[in-house]
Amino acid sequence: MLHTIAGFDRIGEENAFAVLARASELERAGRDIINLGIGQPDFGTPEHIVEAAIKALKDGHHGYTPATGILPLREAVARRTLTTTGVEVSPDNVMIMPGGKVTMFAAILMFGEPGAEILYPDPGFPIYRSMIEFTGATPVPIPIREDNDFAFSGEETLSLITDKTRLIIVNSPANPTGGVTPRAEIEALVAGLENWPDVAVMSDEIYETMTYDGAEHVSLLTFPQLRDRLIVLNGWSKTWAMTGWRMGWSIWPDQLYDKARKLAVNGWSCVNAASQFAGIAAIDGPQDEADKIVAAFDDRRKLTVEAMNALPNIICRTPKGAFYAFPNISGTGWKAKELASALLEEAGVATIGGPDFGILGEGYLRLSYANSAENIERAIVRIGDFLSR
Ligand code: PLP
Repeated sequence: MLHTIAGFDRIGEENAFAVLARASELERAGRDIINLGIGQPDFGTPEHIVEAAIKALKDGHHGYTPATGILPLREAVARRTLTTTGVEVSPDNVMIMPGGKVTMFAAILMFGEPGAEILYPDPGFPIYRSMIEFTGATPVPIPIREDNDFAFSGEETLSLITDKTRLIIVNSPANPTGGVTPRAEIEALVAGLENWPDVAVMSDEIYETMTYDGAEHVSLLTFPQLRDRLIVLNGWSKTWAMTGWRMGWSIWPDQLYDKARKLAVNGWSCVNAASQFAGIAAIDGPQDEADKIVAAFDDRRKLTVEAMNALPNIICRTPKGAFYAFPNISGTGWKAKELASALLEEAGVATIGGPDFGILGEGYLRLSYANSAENIERAIVRIGDFLSR
């Protein structure tokens, strides 16, 4: 018998991929499935970005790049960060990662070990908890509540910190709830963190461009007092519809940067060279298609919320960010995962049960509205028909 490490008894998964696989299987069997499950834009990557990758390949960019990413791309990220946040970061603090996810993987590996505590949002992106558990650290959920409009509370987060806390993970705009945490809560958190100078923070800002109804994305980079212990996770997947390119970036404080570089050298060497050139084109090129994606999501968001609220026994808050709605389905009498599974198998609609995002996700479904308005409408009619059976 082989003896792999105990972490594999604890590591989790992202159930969205299992739902996608099942949805595809049903489609292959001839079923008509509407997918509101997977968290990826339903748009293709803008053409000028694709062209930049093709050009890079034709120009002979076929080899390794520096582990931290090519300098022109790190410079582009620094320029963009200045534009979006007003904050100057050095390209020497920017790391190019094979996807947004890899930043959380690296950050959690850096701080997690038995005896350590790591705070993370619940409901939240499932990999936070999974990776924390893998390292043997204790996952400490930060409750994300519907009655707080799915924002995190600065005070409540501070109240969970102990002398064992190593890392706090925050995410706004958030998956799976679409919650956007207001400035006041973030300021309260940052102010209180002055009492905990040895606690690092990872801010997952991958949905930074996707806010609606005037909601403000507040980057933690704008708080200079946090900079020496702040890791910012960002990337290309959502903003430029590039999930399959595996392109992310992160901003690391000086004291952690070389550790992240070493993880890259040990793990993935560097990110695909042609993709990195595409990444420059995405940042420096026209943003009209990226803007169009957000405008389309905004329309579909309104449609989703209105249609879901028209169903009996469902309450759907209006999400202010990302491309997810998180309706409360507890009034239907269904358990969330059972409902998600029945909707897929019997009604042909893929959604994700809230518990796949944490204990506090019970009673909710995650709907990704990254699908056409027509499909969203059809899907919600099917949900309504199913529930009234
Ligand atoms: N962070 C959050 C909150 C996400 O929702 C996702 C993807 O769904 C990621 C990170 C990972 O992004 P990527 O596909 O670039 O690894």
